[in-house]
Amino acid sequence: MEKKKALVVGAGVSGLAAAYALREKGYAVKVVDKNNHVGGVISTSEENGFKAESGTNTLMIPSQRVLDFITSIGLERDTLLASETAKKRFFLRGGKPVPMPMSLLDFIKTPLFSPIGKLRLMLEPLVKKFPADANPSVEEFVKARFGKEALENVFDAFFAGIYAGRTDSLAVKYAFPPFWNFEQSGGSVVLGAIKARRKKASSENLFKPMVVSFADGMGQMARKMAEALGDDAPILNARLTQVDFEGKWQAAWSSPQEDDCDEFDVLVLAVPAWDLAKLPVGGTLAEAFEPLCGIRGAPINSLTLGFKRSDVEHPLDGFGMLVPQNEKCSILGTLFVSSMFEGRAPSGYVTLTNYVGGMRSPELADLPDEEIVPMVLKDLERILGVRGAPVFKRMFRHKKGIPQYDMSYGERLEALKVLREKFPSVALVGSYIGGVGAGNCIENGLRVADRF
Ligand SMILES: Cc1cc2nc3c(=O)[nH]c(=O)nc-3n(C[C@H](O)[C@H](O)[C@H](O)COP(=O)(O)OP(=O)(O)OC[C@H]3O[C@@H](n4cnc5c(N)ncnc54)[C@H](O)[C@@H]3O)c2cc1C
Repeated sequence: MEKKKALVVGAGVSGLAAAYALREKGYAVKVVDKNNHVGGVISTSEENGFKAESGTNTLMIPSQRVLDFITSIGLERDTLLASETAKKRFFLRGGKPVPMPMSLLDFIKTPLFSPIGKLRLMLEPLVKKFPADANPSVEEFVKARFGKEALENVFDAFFAGIYAGRTDSLAVKYAFPPFWNFEQSGGSVVLGAIKARRKKASSENLFKPMVVSFADGMGQMARKMAEALGDDAPILNARLTQVDFEGKWQAAWSSPQEDDCDEFDVLVLAVPAWDLAKLPVGGTLAEAFEPLCGIRGAPINSLTLGFKRSDVEHPLDGFGMLVPQNEKCSILGTLFVSSMFEGRAPSGYVTLTNYVGGMRSPELADLPDEEIVPMVLKDLERILGVRGAPVFKRMFRHKKGIPQYDMSYGERLEALKVLREKFPSVALVGSYIGGVGAGNCIENGLRVADRF
């Protein structure tokens, strides 16, 4: 019997995971990507022993399913667990990196909040919960539940870290569902979290999420995902020229390797939301995904700098630092990458990956390298005691990098529901649905096959 066929448009980790799972289910898969490499925003460059990531530096493995997938594509031996040191996370406060409190004693002593701010945080269980049909922004939610200081000194930086976003325009129930769900189920975030923890401890699912990278960086993962597709390897530099529905999906594409067309039982669109409108798809399908095309992407630059260890005063004993807006700094955050994973810098050197731009200061992302590098160095000198010139520099720019789960996100999800009902042979997958983390993207990509 002839195999069923699936066309996957986009070879980022979402598309590659979907293609893998569909192949496992017996589909013949064709993957096309307009880019010249697999992995989308993920790629790793290496020079003189320094590694720099274009997108994510870390993969949070969220479930057994994703862990099994990583193992099945042959990455087990090259998986690097983040060091113990990486458990420590810093927030910038008064120009100094301050560790996130991990115990009650740390909390009492931390300079992250004033005594009044601490008291306000502790009152969270007493704050009345939001009505179920409310749609508060992160700012409204955090301010109401934890107080202004918590918002300005910690949560603002936390959401800049995940979304390169602004707390006044992200919708809490979509941008950080655990917060909303804990509050709604437990009457308060803290009480809901305790309840959920107890429930998990007594359930069968004892999987503990883990933070990893790979010996040759995140790019290695993307390459392995593509290799795992065997004969169905992605066609790169490919331009999709036609997609129509006539009983099945008829598609045509053009690439340096081939100009071809075929018909498919299943169509998986794994491109970013803002690229959907550029696909040669018309008619009722285009109308159905139109509301999703308006999802905004935060512009973000990732600048990795390498230094002699002796040129950095700070011990770099952590994951990195997040920077709240009230610190008036050009960087959104800095990862202490070489403290997390081995092989990121030669012996005696360190790498720091700095993020610039985001929805907070999009204009900074447009500056030329000659302006961004000195601006970041000035901040690093002040905050981490960096002296001397960097011996390694690598900037990656993403004009639209991270999708914003903003205040109109609920309406967009409604449109997605309608699309799923109307087009049962079409799946949309990507970081704009179900979580921006690379681990979420892989998990949601794998789940695509459950539908077909
Ligand atoms: C700077 C930065 C830092 C990040 N840091 C982290 C982190 O620390 N931890 C974490 O978990 N996540 C992080 N992320 C997020 C995570 O990396 C992404 O959400 C995830 O990799 C997105 O994967 P994707 O496949 O959905 O999309 P993409 O990677 O964007 O892939 C989409 C693909 O579609 C292709 N495409 C677009 N249009 C077409 C077309 N017309 N025809 C064919 N192909 C097309 C593109 O070329 C691309 O290859 C970061 C992201 C960025 C940008």
